[in-house]
Amino acid sequence: MLGKIEDTEEQAAFRKEFREWLIGELGSAWIDAVDRGDEDSFEKAKNDANWNFLTWMTTIGRSPYAAPLWPKEYGGLSGEPWMQQVIRSELSNYRLPIFGANLLGVGLAGPTIIEHGTEEQKKRYLSKILSGEEIWCQLFSEPGSGSDLASLATRAVRDGDEWVVNGQKVWTTIAQFAKFGMLLARTDPDAPKHDGLTYFILDMKTPGVDVRPLKQLTGSSEFNEVFFTDVRIPDENRVGNVGDGWRCARTTLMNERSALSGISLDPVSIFGGTRRDPWQTFLDSLPNKSDPVARQQIARMYIESEVKEITNFRANAARMRGAQPGPEGSVNKVFNAEYNQRKSSFAINANGMNGVAWLPDDKEPEARTQTFLRARAATIEGGTSEVLRNQMAERILGLPRDPDVDKGVPWTEIKRN
Ligand SMILES: Cc1cc2nc3c(=O)[nH]c(=O)nc-3n(C[C@H](O)[C@H](O)[C@H](O)COP(=O)(O)OP(=O)(O)OC[C@H]3O[C@@H](n4cnc5c(N)ncnc54)[C@H](O)[C@@H]3O)c2cc1C
Repeated sequence: MLGKIEDTEEQAAFRKEFREWLIGELGSAWIDAVDRGDEDSFEKAKNDANWNFLTWMTTIGRSPYAAPLWPKEYGGLSGEPWMQQVIRSELSNYRLPIFGANLLGVGLAGPTIIEHGTEEQKKRYLSKILSGEEIWCQLFSEPGSGSDLASLATRAVRDGDEWVVNGQKVWTTIAQFAKFGMLLARTDPDAPKHDGLTYFILDMKTPGVDVRPLKQLTGSSEFNEVFFTDVRIPDENRVGNVGDGWRCARTTLMNERSALSGISLDPVSIFGGTRRDPWQTFLDSLPNKSDPVARQQIARMYIESEVKEITNFRANAARMRGAQPGPEGSVNKVFNAEYNQRKSSFAINANGMNGVAWLPDDKEPEARTQTFLRARAATIEGGTSEVLRNQMAERILGLPRDPDVDKGVPWTEIKRN
């Protein structure tokens, strides 16, 4: 068994507390079976517990463990970031989803509402985000505005107590299932691009919202185009002040980077084997276990996985000192996205012909290839690696900023693609 980073006393106590909660919810047979690596007993315990994804989302969502960083009064633990890491590692260890169906709600919308929303908005939305009753999506990117998000063109025009929205978003993940969307729209086209934006909560069932799924490389339709035609949003659904949308959006984006930086492809899902020691199991499963190149690559990926964990702890410690996640979220996001691509490419290569062709009922290589194809998106979603590297260069290394030709220029006068 390869070594692991040791818990501090406080972390070990919290891990024990969370594991006891898991035993209470799932039964000790489940936990014992995983601890012993006994697959048959695990399957039986899972059947006996009558486990299903949606019920589980509600169970963990009603506990304080779904969002340990949220304040206690809104259903969290007012906890420290390492707690989130401990919870995720326990969930992964005991074969439970690290993120629920409402990743964008818990990871992005919730923290934005907590930071910028009114008391009424906090009361109305936060508990249903946690319980998974109301799924959220993020309506930011547009066909001409992705990396340069602040140049977006979707318009919101005030009409009494309402706003009338027209325009188009794209790449909107899970919009087809979402109850609410975080919408960034232009409310003042004459102001410079960052200053003329306002942030809204949009009920996705409002007349005039048209969601059209897009087919991806993997064959599934994870994201969508969303069109708005005279969509009316009550002013009470505005988050922050009129014109303050960029500040609110930055909270969403910073949290997105930290949420995505925690996602690492689980070695079991790409390499197969058991969770007790997936790296060793994978090495053992290779046709030529003593192949020095493969051994070296596995050792390298293992080391990278440990470095990533330590960097996450460091980023978490930095977050504890300040209110907002900082540029270290970008470091982790870039690293994790590229690491996931390396890991899934290695798994495909190491499996030879089985990496590209398989019999119809052979689910393992199919899932592995899906993972490999999906990993291509990792360096684009949540900010591309190129753009995040620019941010690291400017904010961490102190290099000169890219020239900003749009600074102070009204949005109507800037060049857009
Ligand atoms: C799987 C997936 C899910 C997504 N989900 C959502 C979602 O739910 N909601 C949402 O709003 N958006 C979503 N997005 C959109 C995502 O945020 C954008 O794709 C991303 O920000 C890049 O924007 P773009 O696609 O317009 O590319 P562009 O910004 O046009 O970039 C094209 C290329 O130019 C490079 N580039 C651009 N500017 C610079 C620069 N200044 N310096 C160096 N290189 C640069 C980029 O790195 C990239 O390689 C999703 C994307 C993916 C892939």
